[in-house]
Amino acid sequence: MTETSHAPSHALLSGRVRGAKPSATKEMTRLANQLKREGRSVITLSQGEPDFPTPRHVREAAKAAIDRNESRYTDVAGTLALREAVARKFERDNGLVYGVDQIQVGCGAKQLLYNALQATLDPGDEVVVPVPAWVSYPEMVRLAGGTPVIVRCGASTGFKLTAARLQGAITARTKWLMLNSPSNPSGAVYTRQELLALAQVLSRHPQVWVMADDVYEKIRYEDTPFATPAAVSPELAARTLTINGVSKAYAMTGWRVGFGAGPAELIKAMNLVQSQSTSHTSSISQAAAIAALDGPMDFLPGFLQAFRRRRDAVVARLNGIDGVACDLPPGAFYAFPSCQGLLGRRDESGQTIESDADLALYLLRVAGVAVVPGSAFELPGHFRVSYAASDAELDEAMARIGDACAQLR
Ligand code: PMP
Ligand code: GLU
Repeated sequence: MTETSHAPSHALLSGRVRGAKPSATKEMTRLANQLKREGRSVITLSQGEPDFPTPRHVREAAKAAIDRNESRYTDVAGTLALREAVARKFERDNGLVYGVDQIQVGCGAKQLLYNALQATLDPGDEVVVPVPAWVSYPEMVRLAGGTPVIVRCGASTGFKLTAARLQGAITARTKWLMLNSPSNPSGAVYTRQELLALAQVLSRHPQVWVMADDVYEKIRYEDTPFATPAAVSPELAARTLTINGVSKAYAMTGWRVGFGAGPAELIKAMNLVQSQSTSHTSSISQAAAIAALDGPMDFLPGFLQAFRRRRDAVVARLNGIDGVACDLPPGAFYAFPSCQGLLGRRDESGQTIESDADLALYLLRVAGVAVVPGSAFELPGHFRVSYAASDAELDEAMARIGDACAQLR
């Protein structure tokens, strides 16, 4: 039986699902895994997750929680102990003070974003999404029945939203602005000044809320202090949901713990959504997250040193490829080079590489390297390389990409 014979008939699917795309990061990784199963040597740089082990004290805390039999349902919003640890984190790192009723814990930062959009969007409601943006933002907006308003922010503004562009994107239907700093995929980091300029625009549009996705907060390579929207303007804090999690900073992607903080009324609505869907994330993962948030951060400099070394090497190698150009990203663990110079060239069979999507498929087929096309992040003409992989894998991947690109005529 072929896979398609099991596909649900079109009539079964909702308009919301028919109007959304599957996650491109997951899709490229699935294609890469399929080739691996067929015996091909494939290097997967399509899914961004730290390749380090979860710190030992966090693993020990999880084992202890299992032995204490912390195996029951928890509060929908997350355990009180974890929400208290989250409150301490926001105060310590960001100078933001939240009560436990202003905090929700979910299955990754991803679920926080999802809950918030489900809790607030009606058909026709607009969400401003500066792009390039993480593949899931526009699709989550669509799944919630809303309309993403895509605002292109290219290399000329450091891939960042400016006050003028924000002003131009807001309408009477705008409910949210989604901001992500450091950014996936560009690595761009907003300064306090830049956030203040955006806050000034938003002060004229009190109906617009801000979803601040800070999951890469700890993955930054410059000394400037971290800035987050709720901390730059108290007026904005009253309509900001600040989202963070343990996936990136603590190498805990599979544990599925994210959290968000904002006005209690919003959190209450998000708890309603969560109570009718996943209930909460795993009780054991929540115990581990407390140890992560309250524990020592002595492993972080090592993570950052490795990421920085890989970033510098990958960006230098990409810039050595004719037709590719890449700025040095100040945060996260992705390089987001332009591939404009390669478009229009032909592969060995005479097929033209018309787009970044063609290039990504070509690199997977010919080089055996999985990357994600820029169009998946709504900025065509680029591709994303996750450098959260071993130095040896990156070295091999860059050699293969360089060879494959050199074969294009
Ligand atoms: N936001 C951004 C920008 C991300 O890149 C990711 C990871 N793909 C997430 C949120 C979600 O992370 P998690 O659900 O693992 O916390
Ligand atoms: N942050 C990762 C990425 O963008 C995880 C995969 C995902 O959830 O999209 O590749």
